[in-house]
Amino acid sequence: MTNDARLPQVQHYIAGAVTDGSSGRTAPVYDPALGIVTKEVPLADLDELNTAVAAAKAAFTGWRDTSIAKRQQILFRFRELVNERKGELAAILTSEHGKVLSDAMGEIARGLEVVEFATGFPQLMKGDYSENVSTGVDVYSTKQPLGVVGVISPFNFPAMVPMWFFPIAIAVGNTVVLKPSEKDPSSSVWLAELFTEAGLPAGVLNVLHGDKVAVDGLLEHPDIRSISFVGSTPIARYIYETAAKNGKRVQALGGAKNHMLVLPDADLDLVADSAINAGFGSAGERCMAISVVVAVEPVADALIEKITERMSKLTIGDGRRSCDMGPLVTEQHRDKVASYIDIAAADGATVVVDGRGIEVDGAAEGFWLGPTLLDRVPLDSRAYTEEIFGPVLSVVRVASYEDGVTLINNGAFGNGTAIFTNDGGAARRFQNEIEVGMIGINVPIPVPVAYYSFGGFKDSIFGDTKAYGEQGVHFFTREKAITSRWLDPSHGGINLGFPQN
Ligand code: NAD
Repeated sequence: MTNDARLPQVQHYIAGAVTDGSSGRTAPVYDPALGIVTKEVPLADLDELNTAVAAAKAAFTGWRDTSIAKRQQILFRFRELVNERKGELAAILTSEHGKVLSDAMGEIARGLEVVEFATGFPQLMKGDYSENVSTGVDVYSTKQPLGVVGVISPFNFPAMVPMWFFPIAIAVGNTVVLKPSEKDPSSSVWLAELFTEAGLPAGVLNVLHGDKVAVDGLLEHPDIRSISFVGSTPIARYIYETAAKNGKRVQALGGAKNHMLVLPDADLDLVADSAINAGFGSAGERCMAISVVVAVEPVADALIEKITERMSKLTIGDGRRSCDMGPLVTEQHRDKVASYIDIAAADGATVVVDGRGIEVDGAAEGFWLGPTLLDRVPLDSRAYTEEIFGPVLSVVRVASYEDGVTLINNGAFGNGTAIFTNDGGAARRFQNEIEVGMIGINVPIPVPVAYYSFGGFKDSIFGDTKAYGEQGVHFFTREKAITSRWLDPSHGGINLGFPQN
């Protein structure tokens, strides 16, 4: 798309200053509730990528050697500034992503949690010390930052997902090049500017907008030490393989298809509320959304009745007004999500509630799709096997707890899951038997708090390190083990044998 001078241009943020794009390539940024292009985002070329990486590299030594106390103070100040001005950030999120303002505030709160966790980094950076492992010999370890690290984030949490990574990466002494989603790019720049205001030196956090060109540049750049990626499974797999081939440390979190197993003894009102919240919150554009309700018979009919009744009361519209659910992020994504309703129907599922063509509180051109409920979705339908990533909730009926667990474990993804039951023994068995990384027991969206770590199993993650928590600190540091002796050198002597204690 050519550069349209009438539209505001989103800028890169490099070396502590906003910078115009110079590649000549841009992408449109939409207001999804209005269905119009409101801005253009530059798509970086390799020269701009090299400039951003060079800025981060130039800042690294100074930042690494900045005292722990000073780094902590900057993080605390950043936390305060975001908290004071989070209303501005929520407005940006809603205008580019479409999620309702209250949900945008929730996203910011969960991102701030990681900033708060990161302020405690000195405790997690402490090494070990063993005195006198051999006579006069001490061994100790120290954790050090990697250098310049790359972060590539998806459209669905434009503030929170970057905040899963950059606060910890920066706290422990790295410098960062962040490549946000080109669909909703402005919040990353807002956060970087605020971090500078909090005292972060220029070049420690750089935001470079772009598409595959910028991503491939990061994956191949010799000065990028690690890649943290969140996005869809095919891209996550590609990122993992390419970054690893280029010798980088990599964590690549992918897509999801999260099941909620409902046992017959569950509280069905709680289940129905939870299915609605987890299925349709943020228009289903959450990697921890519930997309399949697995009903152990005979509960399915009663549960569908309760869910349907609640769906009829949901308000859909412009997220700036007090609606329950906003639009989808782009027209293209809305059409793709809607196509799964056609696929399910053609494959024999029952469309209990059809969100296509709904009336909304908003502009006719907005990217709308109403909450949709499908029943008896065949397990070989693409509507069941693939991630839909929209407000489409499927019901699958099974005869027993065991059938439900087998169904979930046979799925390609393993991000999140939930069991609803009043049987503690069944819940305990479930947490042991289920092959999923994050589990809710009577909790529908079990996103771990910041001092645990976030990540799934199977096609939902590539790499062995999850996001944030202690695993985040581990990912962004490397350990040195030091063996030292402070004796008179005359105590030495020649010995070609392997060192023993
Ligand atoms: P996406 O994979 O399309 O894009 C993610 C990032 O990769 C973006 O920055 C994008 O610019 C870049 N990208 C896209 N295509 C690329 C290509 N061919 N080569 C290189 N880079 C490319 O994902 P999305 O649509 O922005 O986000 C939604 C997806 O993210 C869903 O699948 C969702 O489940 C997943 N997600 C997962 C988690 C998790 O923690 N597991 C969290 C949030 C979102």
